Amino acid sequence: MSDSLNTQLIHHPYSPPVGFEAVAPGVHKASTVLFPNVRALRTQEWKDKSGYTYGLHGTPTTFTLEERIATLEGGRFCVLAPSGLSAVALVDMAFLRQGDELLIPDNAYGPGKAFAEGELKAWGISHRYFDAMNPADLASRLSPATRMVWLEAPGSITLEFPDVPALTEVVRQANRQRGASERPIITAFDNTWGAGIAFNAFDLGVDVCMQALTKYPSGGADVLMGSVVTREEQLHQAVLMTHMRLGLGVGANDAELVLRGLNSIGVRYHAQDATTRDLAAWMQQQPGVVKVLHPAMPDSPGHHVWRRDARAAACLFSAVFDESIAQDRIDAFCDALQLFRLGWSWAGPISLCAPYNVSSIRTAPWPYKGGLVRFAVGLEAAEDLRADLAQALPALTA
Ligand SMILES: *Cc1c(COP(=O)(O)O)cnc(C)c1O
Repeated sequence: MSDSLNTQLIHHPYSPPVGFEAVAPGVHKASTVLFPNVRALRTQEWKDKSGYTYGLHGTPTTFTLEERIATLEGGRFCVLAPSGLSAVALVDMAFLRQGDELLIPDNAYGPGKAFAEGELKAWGISHRYFDAMNPADLASRLSPATRMVWLEAPGSITLEFPDVPALTEVVRQANRQRGASERPIITAFDNTWGAGIAFNAFDLGVDVCMQALTKYPSGGADVLMGSVVTREEQLHQAVLMTHMRLGLGVGANDAELVLRGLNSIGVRYHAQDATTRDLAAWMQQQPGVVKVLHPAMPDSPGHHVWRRDARAAACLFSAVFDESIAQDRIDAFCDALQLFRLGWSWAGPISLCAPYNVSSIRTAPWPYKGGLVRFAVGLEAAEDLRADLAQALPALTA
């Protein structure tokens, strides 16, 4: 070797001793992974975590996170995607082909519907909406072309808690009636709300579990990431191959932040749950509030199913206001809040709120005429958040 400093700095002979052990796992970054010889370069397998081949196919950091998310969800395999929404799209692309039909709950996460209405439709994959609160409605909409059913508990924004075991049983029954050579219907579940803490979605009968790690697993409002977890090897391989061909990867520093967030996900989930129930019950008593939607509220849709199937509830509740209160008053109430900030997403440290027009985001009838605000409760003290709501409520009638 010449005495070129460039070469010496890059091919430096020092390597630190092995055996370093700390609480946090190391953060490994790679596009290139180095092989000891050509034989290893040609033969190293990338599909089963027996080694490393290229940054996109995994590093010690992403493999570690995948294993922990699989554990969180009660599954066996996990792939990571750059956002929750990209994980939704990945599941769609892994299992749907031209001519297939997809069924989506009417109250599902909106951008996932937009992917079906945009890309999937353009690719010759049709979709229909169903009422997740009515398993008979799902049964009536299944057709020979149906290949996948999305599920979500509770519904986005309106928080109705569906009977997931009954819905997955409808799909299993349809699959039993299909010929052995026919592709079965896959049930894909958006588990962002339950986060692996409130219930085990696989035990409720789903095949594929997607989660926006952006929410609880991160917990910091500073990372975008998604996961797809499966129990069956065959399903995992389908997701993995599409994931590889799409070139989806996540950055090591983001994976590190989610690994750090997972240490406290259990305590954060339950702390935010307690504050949210407190605020939801208080809000229900306030003048001008017609209905508070939260699965733990006894008259919230699906409450009895939530009690049967779940151990906890996430940090979301929605308030429906009296129809006499105009939208500009509801907007003024949101603007008057000081601790609840305006913004999308949830499960971070700061409480958030956003007004929604429910009739514009669903096809099924919606029983309320008044406006709705969805609250996402952060980690602040319940009494401070309650005082914030109290000081802003007069703006509704000002
Ligand atoms: C936020 C969210 C997503 C999408 O996650 P992003 O990381 O923001 O893309 C998907 N599903 C649900 C239920 C969500 O709340």
